[in-house]
This record gives sequence, C-alpha cells and structure tokens, in this order.
Amino acid sequence: MKNQVEESLEILEVAAQISKDYYGLPLIIAYSGGKDSDVMLHLALKANIEFEVLYSTTTVDAPQTMKHIRHIFKRLNDMGIKTHRTKPTYKGDPINMFSLIEKKGIPPTRLVRYCCDVLKEASTPNRVTAVGVRESESRTRKGRAEFNIGKRKNSKHFNVKYVKEVFDSAKVQDPIWDCLIVANARARKEMIVNPIYHWSNSEIWTYIKENDIPYNELYDMGYSRVGCILCPMAKKSEKKRDEINFPWMKQNYIKAFDRMLKARKENGKDDGTGLWVDGRGVYRWWIEDNTIPGQLKFNDDGEIEEEP
Ligand code: SF4
Repeated sequence: MKNQVEESLEILEVAAQISKDYYGLPLIIAYSGGKDSDVMLHLALKANIEFEVLYSTTTVDAPQTMKHIRHIFKRLNDMGIKTHRTKPTYKGDPINMFSLIEKKGIPPTRLVRYCCDVLKEASTPNRVTAVGVRESESRTRKGRAEFNIGKRKNSKHFNVKYVKEVFDSAKVQDPIWDCLIVANARARKEMIVNPIYHWSNSEIWTYIKENDIPYNELYDMGYSRVGCILCPMAKKSEKKRDEINFPWMKQNYIKAFDRMLKARKENGKDDGTGLWVDGRGVYRWWIEDNTIPGQLKFNDDGEIEEEP
C-alpha cells in the first residue's frame, strides 16, 4: 500500500508539472462521485499540487451520486479549489441522454457507445486530465500505463519513469526530435493520466477506511461500482438492480425510445432491428431481456453468449 501511494503521488506531481509547463493550466482531476475518484482526490490533496476538479454531467447518474458530488464540491470550494460541471451539447445544442438518443436515432450499446463520446469524453480536449482508471477493473483496461495519449485503438501508453525521463531531457535538449508524448504536450493535445492504475479494489477500500474518506451511499446499498444508471456497458444483473432502484429512469428510457422511433419514421428510416414496435419493445431489446426471438444474448461478463 505504501508503494502504491508513493507511486500515485509521483504520477500526480509529474502530471501537474507537465500541465503547468506545457499547457499553462492546472491539472484536471476528473471526478465521478465514485470511490476511485474520491481516492484520487485525496491523493491530489496529499500531493499538494495545483489542480481543478471536473464532473462530466452524464444526466443519468443516481440521485445519491449527485448528492455526494454536491457535498464534495462544496468542501473543495471551501478550500479554494475550483470545481466545474460540464453542460453537454451535441451539434451545438444542449443535450441530455434522452434527447441524445432521439437525435442519434439508435440506442447506445456496448458496440456503439456514443453517449460516452458526447457526455463524458468530449470535455477535456486540450488539457492534462487525471482519471480513476484501474488495471484490475476489466480486461480492456489492462495493457495501458500511467500516461496515455491518443484515442482508443490509436492510444499510446507510457509509464511514469519514462515520462519523467523524457520530459527532464526535453528541458535541456534542443527539440530537434521529441518523444511522442513530449510532442503531444507541445501541441497541447489531450493527455490522460491514471494515478491509481495499479491499485486493487481492496487497496481502494483500505485507503478509504484508513483515511476516513466520505463515500457515495450507493456502496452501502450493495453497489460495487457506481456510474450511469442502466449503462449499456453494465452487467445484466447490475441493470436489473438499477431497474428496481430507479424505476423512473427505466420509464425515461422507454419514452426516449418512443420519441426515437417517431423521429426515425419521420426521417424515412425503418424500425432498426425489424423487431422494434414501440419504446417498450426497444427497451426490452436494449436491456437484453431475452424475450425477443432472434435477439443476441450476452453473458454476465458482457460477452456474446448466443448468436441468433
Ligand atoms: S451510459 Fe455508460 S456508455 Fe453511456 S455515457 Fe454513461 S458510462 Fe458511458
């Protein structure tokens, strides 16, 4: 645990210095209201670096999450730390998850995760941003490192020792040739930093308990991670639990799918799968209710279990 904390502090210090030297702005700590971002925030305060905090407004977070964010932001503001909340837009118009579905004309899915692009990832294009990604969370998060540049398949990953070395040498050398990550910083392109990349789940909880860090009450309701309600990336069992705890969110999705079908019709598009009859039917397809003939079935790890 001591090593993990020391490594995280070093990552945050290096990231804050790069942000100041190359971007002329403080490091951003991306805050979601979940346990990982609470730990990251605590570490950033401990590192005594300059930073600002940003919540990407998803419009589908639980009321408990929003309450926790308000509480934490007030504490930060009282300490003189700036906090921001995004106001999501799509093609210049203000948007929320439900109006976005209508505009896109398809539901967000595991394969077409457009909501993340619009609601979460579009907010820090020219900044250095620390996020609470951890290697142990999922297979897709393995193989990254503490510093990332570029998007998804084209992203490049660098460990903190290497980053420190190349930025130290960039200070003294004539910049005839720059390492990719230094060139990225000189162009002020987005850089993502993962200060708690090597932490395990149990280390996160131990740190929270040892430091008496306030956390989102959803964890005491049995949630092991928090995020958008009814996220298409969630496990089937997690979506079922969301349906029970947040029935109004289900109704909002059904209404959005109804409006989406109406918009598709007006634009001369068919009903998508050939099986979508109304918002309720789209919802059942989307939630993987396994009640529609010919529907893809996913297992609890999100892998396709059975093709039609
Ligand atoms: S619902 Fe899931 S996929 Fe969509 S923005 Fe939220 S986390 Fe991303």
